[in-house]
Amino acid sequence: MKSKIWLSSPHMSGNEIVFINEAFSSNWIAPLGPNVTGFENDIISYLDNKKQVAAVSSGTSALHLALILLNITQGDEVICQSKTFSASANPIVYQGATPVFVDSEQDTWNICPILLEQAIKDRIAKGKKPKAIIAVHLYGMPYKHKEISLLSKTYNIPVIEDSAEALGSSYFKQKCGTLGEFGILSFNGNKIITTSGGGALVCNSKENKDKAVFLATQAKDKAIAYVHSHIGYNYRMSNIVAGIGRGQMTILEDHVTKRRENYNFYKAQLNHINAIEFLNEPEGYFSNRWLSCILLKNKNQREELRELLEEDNIESRPLWKPMHQQPIFKNYPCYINGVSDDLFNRGLCLPSGSNLTSEDLNRIVSLIIQYFE
Ligand SMILES: *Cc1c(COP(=O)(O)O)cnc(C)c1O
Repeated sequence: MKSKIWLSSPHMSGNEIVFINEAFSSNWIAPLGPNVTGFENDIISYLDNKKQVAAVSSGTSALHLALILLNITQGDEVICQSKTFSASANPIVYQGATPVFVDSEQDTWNICPILLEQAIKDRIAKGKKPKAIIAVHLYGMPYKHKEISLLSKTYNIPVIEDSAEALGSSYFKQKCGTLGEFGILSFNGNKIITTSGGGALVCNSKENKDKAVFLATQAKDKAIAYVHSHIGYNYRMSNIVAGIGRGQMTILEDHVTKRRENYNFYKAQLNHINAIEFLNEPEGYFSNRWLSCILLKNKNQREELRELLEEDNIESRPLWKPMHQQPIFKNYPCYINGVSDDLFNRGLCLPSGSNLTSEDLNRIVSLIIQYFE
């Protein structure tokens, strides 16, 4: 059996262990400590010192906190991009609110502004104004920020920016993660940098950050005798995990460069094959190319190619299955134009890790070329 090539696997710099050892030698083995503060400050400075950041246990918990801070409760409606990973939508249901799914457009594969406006108008006409919009930078490609934020202003509905896949991406030089009322980042094992599991909530104010940290640490009132006037959560990042994050921040830019090189390599090698389509960056859009994706002619071709790669011990995956097609979400309201269904049928994510070697990349590309010959 040939060696396994993963879709996207952790890639350490070697600096992580230094920060972890510091945590051990100073006995900061807790969900607070110098690495947590240090990691937050690293992210703040990476995001051009425009924001406040709370490090938490996952991207999902960051999204949940954003919804709580926006007062989303029982019976509210929240618009969510349908083409995404289920973690974008689950926290809406944690709050007892109703997700309303909106389909994608062709240029970025993210939430379609035209359909979004139709959805907002229709929900208002039906008697309920959505209380938030969750927009996602899928695979690192920024969503149409100008159009979405215009709608957000026009209808006065805040945007939660799901930037779980887009740390290192930017929109006309503005870093992804800083574009929404709240931004969320993920450091899960497969993301562009990983802390083994972790996330961050990006906030506009110190006040919101403090509220997020308060809720994430069991909502303990400022009293010695365990007084609680809010429901709390145990969502804070641990000081060990944050040590991994500090090490990872030292090589984030290298990871972005390498992932973009992967994409460029695939494109250069495969562009001559008529059946294969790539997603180009619109002008001003900069993608971290978290995953390199291609579109094939149809589902059958996509599956044949995926199986061929699998036989050679190479992991590839279909694009995310849209939320309006999921058994758990299919009965919620949705506004559909066919784009995300088509992408799901024809799309394939190729191995994209920053630790892929040129032998790995050549092995993948030769198999694909072979398939088309
Ligand atoms: C990974 C991911 C999340 C969730 O992040 P976790 O850290 O795994 O909880 C949310 N949204 C999107 C789009 C993701 O890819």
